[in-house]
Amino acid sequence: CGIVGYIGRRQAARIIIDGLKKLEYRGYDSFGLATLNGDISLAKKGGRISDAGSNTAGLSGRIGIGHTRWATHGIPNDQNAHPHLDCTGKIAVVHNGIIENYAELRRDLTARGHTFRSDTDTEVISHLVEEHFQGDLSSAVAEVLPLLEGSYAILVIAEGDDRIIAARKASPLVIGIGDRELFCASDVTPLIDHTRRVIYLDDGDCAVLSCSGCLITTGGEQVSRPVEEVDWD
Ligand code: GLU
Repeated sequence: CGIVGYIGRRQAARIIIDGLKKLEYRGYDSFGLATLNGDISLAKKGGRISDAGSNTAGLSGRIGIGHTRWATHGIPNDQNAHPHLDCTGKIAVVHNGIIENYAELRRDLTARGHTFRSDTDTEVISHLVEEHFQGDLSSAVAEVLPLLEGSYAILVIAEGDDRIIAARKASPLVIGIGDRELFCASDVTPLIDHTRRVIYLDDGDCAVLSCSGCLITTGGEQVSRPVEEVDWD
């Protein structure tokens, strides 16, 4: 269970794959990534990243999110690997943690016409974001967070929106600040190849990562978190 996100001037897929390899110690039964280049491109698979080589062909874009999984709900296989999409295929989510009330949320979403493609607790998040989306991804995610019980670190991207929305509750998430590029990961290990300047998100924080920087809110109020220098070899 590790996540990596990238937004900047370089191709995201290469950076995300390399970052996920560094996070495999946290969980490694499956992996996947989604990049944004107008449309969302998705690749996900059961097994270790090293088993699959590092083929990033077809995954272009300067924005992306990735995941290495340690299954809690749903067996390790290709379908249950993250990222998870909504019904339209335009919203992608990676998640570390457990959504405790997923069964109830899934039952209600199914009753409202949503079709699920996996057995994970995570997939409810992409469908809920789809329901709440009215043109602004960060507002949709902010509306969905209070509906989720349990623990999460999530990254969300959507077609037509050049940002990554990140949020955490009882699961770690760190932002790395580079030169006109931002990273996001479960811990600093994937970040230190690129930058030493990091922001540790607090519980309840929601961060919007864009080309113009990083905006952090908690309970709807903008907050400022210290930029720390990682001194770690
Ligand atoms: N609960 C989620 C799943 O089973 C996420 C597990 C993880 O953190 O890797 O898919």
